[in-house]
Amino acid sequence: MDDTRTSTRVATCRCGQLKAECVGEPVRVSVCHCLACQRRSGSAFATQARWPEDQVTVSGEFAVWERIADSGHRATYRFCPKCGSTLAYVIEGWPGVVAVPVGAFADPEFPSPRFSVYEHRKHGWVDILSDDVKHSSDPSIAFTQGPSTR
Ligand SMILES: [Zn+2]
Ligand SMILES: [Zn+2]
Repeated sequence: MDDTRTSTRVATCRCGQLKAECVGEPVRVSVCHCLACQRRSGSAFATQARWPEDQVTVSGEFAVWERIADSGHRATYRFCPKCGSTLAYVIEGWPGVVAVPVGAFADPEFPSPRFSVYEHRKHGWVDILSDDVKHSSDPSIAFTQGPSTR
């Protein structure tokens, strides 16, 4: 991470009308293998980055959906009502932090994940290989390292 300059990254939904402008470097980049993230992303695992909420500006039309995570905390997702992409979500267990799916940045140079959680749900063909990754299978351990990423 480079705190000496302020970068701004913009995530967009597939149709482009919903945007999340994220200022500065993310405080956490993680991969989650939980079944809820698999369903949300439509992929075998999900990758998301988090910023303090005052560094994320969401603009455009969005709908909201809530679920109660395994942790018992409420998770609130903002997604595009036109194309369906989830662009930002918050979990009450980690107040003040917003998660943005990394794929929405469409940036292969995005910082690599440092946490890989819910690995007991990981597909057998998946390995998270980037340097300095903390691996976790126990959801409660995942939660104390930060929020569960659901
Ligand atoms: Zn859209
Ligand atoms: Zn998850």
